[in-house]
Amino acid sequence: MRVLEDHFGRKFPYLRLSVTDACNFRCQYCLPNGYKKTGDFQFLSTEEITRLIAAFAEMGVEKVRLTGGEPTLRRDLTTIAAAISCIPGIRTIGLTTNGYSLKEKAGAFFASGINVLNVSVDSLQPHKFHAITGHDKLPHVLAGIEAARQAGFRNIKINTVLLKGVNDDDLPEFLAWVKREELSVRFIELMQTGDNLEYFRKHHLSAEVIKAQLLERGFSLSPRRHDSGPALEFEHPEYTGKIGMIAPYSRDFCKSCNRLRVTARGDLRLCLFGEGGYNLRPLLAEDDQREALQEKLLELLHFKRESHYLGQGITGITPHLASLGG
Ligand code: SAM
Ligand code: SF4
Repeated sequence: MRVLEDHFGRKFPYLRLSVTDACNFRCQYCLPNGYKKTGDFQFLSTEEITRLIAAFAEMGVEKVRLTGGEPTLRRDLTTIAAAISCIPGIRTIGLTTNGYSLKEKAGAFFASGINVLNVSVDSLQPHKFHAITGHDKLPHVLAGIEAARQAGFRNIKINTVLLKGVNDDDLPEFLAWVKREELSVRFIELMQTGDNLEYFRKHHLSAEVIKAQLLERGFSLSPRRHDSGPALEFEHPEYTGKIGMIAPYSRDFCKSCNRLRVTARGDLRLCLFGEGGYNLRPLLAEDDQREALQEKLLELLHFKRESHYLGQGITGITPHLASLGG
């Protein structure tokens, strides 16, 4: 079976799989009014997910990230992770979470085979965290990160969406944290989605601002690994952890794209900001459909574009990242 490679020579060892659209937070830039269920459907089952990942793994996928919505809201998340971890070729299972349930469940997540963790923390100031997420839960989330470390997770990554006028003066707190802890805090540029244009206009800020401050403080760019993807990381000899930047509006961001996405309803998305999805679910009903599914994936990959067109304000069909998995 051929590996997944597109017209531009990019390979795809990495799959982001959303397991639910639902979320218990109300992040200002994502679900400011909370999650509203739309339509009568069920998210992909463990069996469908296992068939999907087995097909992808034979085509070169080695890493799967479980995301959402809030993936930890799925009661069967550990069953899903354990099933994926048994699939030959899968080396890494990541989880992106708002951290709400880590305090209680980090041990179970680690035991199920999840071995890479990203936790979203947009501010280390409790009142700002509350304002951004709609929940006064910063201490709880930080305790969850500590529980995850105790459970065995190493090099935990922190996702921080950079928000002008909200958390763009929080760098000193994040630096103090990274100085003492083995963490990688990644500042993500706010992306425009179908639903957040007004918020985006008000709060988008280029991550160059952070880069300049890091260089000024003596940080230097870490060497890129072959599997780094689009994040840039900066290090400093006096700091235990690292600071990273994810800047989707920068030139060349898409050149290092190494990932495909599947939504919780089974749609393949070639790009976060693509114009369409292809429903793979009819090809996930039986084990003997694997070859047909793989043929379809190769065919669809021809449609992956060289770049997104976010710079021109084209956000594709994504109303908010909870609907697709950020
Ligand atoms: N609920 C989980 C969480 O928040 O970590 C996983 C899903 S969330 C959609 C994944 C990541 O996307 C989070 O770090 C979140 O902050 C980020 N995100 C959501 N909307 C975004 C946007 N419009 N621009 C940039 N990042 C965004
Ligand atoms: Fe929920 Fe994550 Fe979106 Fe926040 S960013 S509303 S935690 S899906």
